[in-house]
Amino acid sequence: MRTLPNTAQSPLPATESKGKRRKVCESLPVDNRINVVRAHESETDAMDKIPRGFDKIIGHDFAKRVLRKAAGSGSPAHAYIFLGPEGVGKLTTAVEFAKALNCDNAEEGSPCCECAICRMIDQGNLPDVRIWSPEGKNTRIDLMREMRDLAILKPLRARWKVNIIEQGDTLNEEAANCILKLVEEPPEFLVNILLYRNAAAVLPTIWSRCSVVRFVPVAKEDLADRLASDFGLDRSQAQLLASYAQGCPGRAIRLIGNSQFAAQRDAVARVADGLSRRRLWWAPRLAEDLRTAMHVSDGTSSAENVETFQDDDRVEETGRAYRLSARDSAIRSLDLLLSWYGDLLAVKVQGQQASVVNVDRLDMLQAHSDRYRTVEDLLSAIDAIQNCRRRIIGNANPQIAVEALMIELAGWQTDSNASATLGTSLGSIV
Ligand SMILES: [Zn+2]
Repeated sequence: MRTLPNTAQSPLPATESKGKRRKVCESLPVDNRINVVRAHESETDAMDKIPRGFDKIIGHDFAKRVLRKAAGSGSPAHAYIFLGPEGVGKLTTAVEFAKALNCDNAEEGSPCCECAICRMIDQGNLPDVRIWSPEGKNTRIDLMREMRDLAILKPLRARWKVNIIEQGDTLNEEAANCILKLVEEPPEFLVNILLYRNAAAVLPTIWSRCSVVRFVPVAKEDLADRLASDFGLDRSQAQLLASYAQGCPGRAIRLIGNSQFAAQRDAVARVADGLSRRRLWWAPRLAEDLRTAMHVSDGTSSAENVETFQDDDRVEETGRAYRLSARDSAIRSLDLLLSWYGDLLAVKVQGQQASVVNVDRLDMLQAHSDRYRTVEDLLSAIDAIQNCRRRIIGNANPQIAVEALMIELAGWQTDSNASATLGTSLGSIV
């Protein structure tokens, strides 16, 4: 169970976030601890400037309208599914909805954010509003049983008791069935909000008993506008983070002041530079550079994984967890590389007028792009990166797969037959 966030679309509730970071910091080298703390401090500073209540939620106007109306009417549905990708704003919206339902001074379904109830919810001190989070990769049945047993007790202070169930995707059938009756026939004072990333993960029995509120990625320009106005970022920085976040404000906010992200981008740019020079003998070193940069500087990924490992008591899980960490790290590096090659393709086709993710590296992109003779060369490279990503997701050894990719990309050539032959032989290796 988690306490509540008091920050706009913060990836973690503030109080829990500190605890989580403290746990992580204890497990990291001293330099990394400093980075994590600094990232948190700059994040906290930025948070002080943001709007409050439903206004702090970036995008999702339709969802906000629906929920304001429900809170204002005083008769919300007894169960909601908030459906949308990670970091899009589901948790923040759920908490604001809980405040709107219980605020002493709510106006037209919007919380005041000043009254005792609002503050207690923001600070995670109101036991009637709770976030239930999975432990490790699964939501445990005993956690859902605890939630079910507590749910029948009347609220202590609030009008509405609100259960927010994070990552509903991790509910297995047994855990979902445990709360089915609660979702179907809840006490009159209870509102359940289940947060899901994928509609396919929602059991039909749950789906049919809930009001579904969809959260779609926010338009890039809208997100950049809010990052600039709410967090004081300059325009190019806001556009860069908005592009990387792919419409998910939580991801963008997480990257504000994150020096590790800048280091990762630098590493990927260096690797892409080496690849564009077409020197096959550099490939193993480039693969090592990419791997090292991600492992050393990937604070966010490591943090999540460290937390997961610590929660898992079984020693035999350690090896599997390490492989998951290497896979996550490799996939993350390939995502950054893919965005770079996507930009190269855009610049190749549209020149300096291209709309690119790495807006601050346009000159470098132009120089790299000029080294590729045709658009097809870049399309083949993008194809190779995507194939490598798929292989790693499909359980290929991340290190070998990335090394093979580097060989393929460093040896790029316009002869499509030769490229296809190389790709086939690499496929058999991994
Ligand atoms: Zn209030």
